[in-house]
This record gives sequence, C-alpha cells and structure tokens, in this order.
Amino acid sequence: MDYVLTANALSKQYGHFKALNGLSMHVPKGAIYGFVGKNGAGKTTFIRLVCGLQSPSSGDFTLYGIHSGEKEIRKARRRMGAVVETPSIYLDMTAEDNLKEQYRVLGLPSLDGIRELLELVGLSDTGKRKAKNFSLGMKQRLGIAVALAGNPDFLILDEPVNGLDPQGIIEIRELILKLNREHQITVLISSHILDELSRLATHYGFLDGGHIVQEISAAELEDACRKCMRIEVSDTRALACVLDTLHTDYKILSNTRADIYAKLNVSQLTLALAEKNCEVLSLQERDESLEHYFMNLVGGEENA
Ligand code: ADP
Repeated sequence: MDYVLTANALSKQYGHFKALNGLSMHVPKGAIYGFVGKNGAGKTTFIRLVCGLQSPSSGDFTLYGIHSGEKEIRKARRRMGAVVETPSIYLDMTAEDNLKEQYRVLGLPSLDGIRELLELVGLSDTGKRKAKNFSLGMKQRLGIAVALAGNPDFLILDEPVNGLDPQGIIEIRELILKLNREHQITVLISSHILDELSRLATHYGFLDGGHIVQEISAAELEDACRKCMRIEVSDTRALACVLDTLHTDYKILSNTRADIYAKLNVSQLTLALAEKNCEVLSLQERDESLEHYFMNLVGGEENA
C-alpha cells in the first residue's frame, strides 16, 4: 500500500514526561484517517512533530517516503497543509486578503486560484467582512483554505469541529469529504470524539498514552462493532467463568446481563453454561457503539 505518512516508534519527551511514547502509524494515500485519542493522549504533539514545529526525542516518520531526518523533508512538507490548534488567520483581514497573504508567504507566483479556493470552502460571498466577524465555522473554513494554498495533496486538521455548532460541524464534514473525494486530498483528522469521525473516516488510529493501540480500517471497525452479543443468563458469575476459559472479551453489566465481544458458538456456550447450572434467558446480537468500542480499547469514560 502507498502511504503518505508513516511514523516509527516516535517519542517526544518533556522533562520526564513522555507525551509520545513509541508511536507507530500508517496513513494510506487517499484515506481520511481518523486520529482518535482522549484529551492529552498526544494528538497535537504528534501533529506538531509532523509539521516541523517541534523535533522528536527519538524515532522518526516519513512523509511521501521522505525520512524526517533528511533535508528533503522541508520540500515534502510543501505538499502538506495543516490547521493545528487554532486556524492561522489574520482576524483584521478579509478572507481574500488572508489568502493573498498566504500566497505571498509561500512565494506563489500568481494569485490565480484564490477565487476557486474561497468558493471551495464556501466563503466566496464574504466580500469586505473581516475574519473577526466570521462565525467559528467560517474561521475554521478560512483556516482550511489557507492550509490549501499551494495545492497540497495531504491535509492535517487538528480537532476541526471543536466548539462548532451542529451546522458548522456539517459544513466542515461536507468540505472534508469534498476535498477527499473530488480533489483526491488525503486527510488526517484528530478528534477525541469517535462518533463524529465515523461519518468520514476510512481508517482509524486509536491513540492512548502517547502510542497507537490499534490501527483499523472503517470496514474492519464496523465488523468489530457488530460482533457484540447481549446475553441474559441466570448467573453472570458462571458466565464469566466460561468466557474466561474461552479467552473471550466480555463485559458484565449486572447479575444477569453481559455483553460478549466476539462471535461465539452459541450451542457450545449454552452447553458449557448448563454444566454450571446457568441458564441462557436471551441472546441478542447488537451493534456496539464506536465510542464504546474505543473506550473498551483505551479505558475510561465516554467522550472523556
Ligand atoms: P491532545 O492533543 O491529544 O489533547 P497533546 O499532544 O496536546 O494531547 O498533549 C499530550 C500531553 O503532553 C499532555 O499531557 C500535555 O499536557 C503534555 N504537553 C504538551 N505540550 C507540552 C509542553 N510543551 N510541555 C510539557 N508538557 C506538554
């Protein structure tokens, strides 16, 4: 597979604290890669390293196959746009002037393309309005337009829908899908809310404590989430014993109810339970929510 970005045992230490701890990941070309982790997991730190705003303590990454230690990494970064933390825009300027300024900073030879860019992000009718009078969603979209100056084919967005109202969230989502599907831009989006990403992402990297605990495609995640059975039995202590011997992942919900996170041979399970005088009262296949799946993986509370 062709990867736009890979990371190999990347670490970043602040004093004794490891914000990134041996992070390895793979962003396929053409993907919308959901980079999911709770607050403080290390998402922004990773993005800052890739953007060259900070250096790794150890490990490395490649961008378009160029190694982070090579001189050409600067050139590779020109093919990438990013909105890290808050959008880099001048609040006292109009949307158009912001883009003109970015074109100037990048040394782009002509201002061609600015009108198309404003249209693409839905800001072509903002005229003389200054960015300070924009809604949060408009500012975010202007930030994305600025990141798109120079025609990058890889876009990194750090928590792009944070603080946006539902309409703003929909607009950003539609813009990201359009950039990916119609303009073939690979996108890496960080978020602490998996359910929001699930409307977009083709791949996921789940981050916890500074390293990736799992990389999974959207299709694989969907499958994994389906493999949950809600079971009602006369005694979940007996159920737990049987599931332990089967090395199966489960969660006890009460004295009589539990969720089982694997496909099981139901007759084998029923027989094993009967031997322990435990009766199966009901069995129901159910979709595990993505957020729940993620929390099972990393521990902690939902939407933490
Ligand atoms: P996320 O983006 O996932 O919320 P961050 O990458 O911002 O996480 O932070 C990861 C951890 O590193 C946090 O515990 C944060 O407090 C710590 N951290 C980030 N930047 C610094 C810094 N400059 N100095 C010390 N600790 C930092």
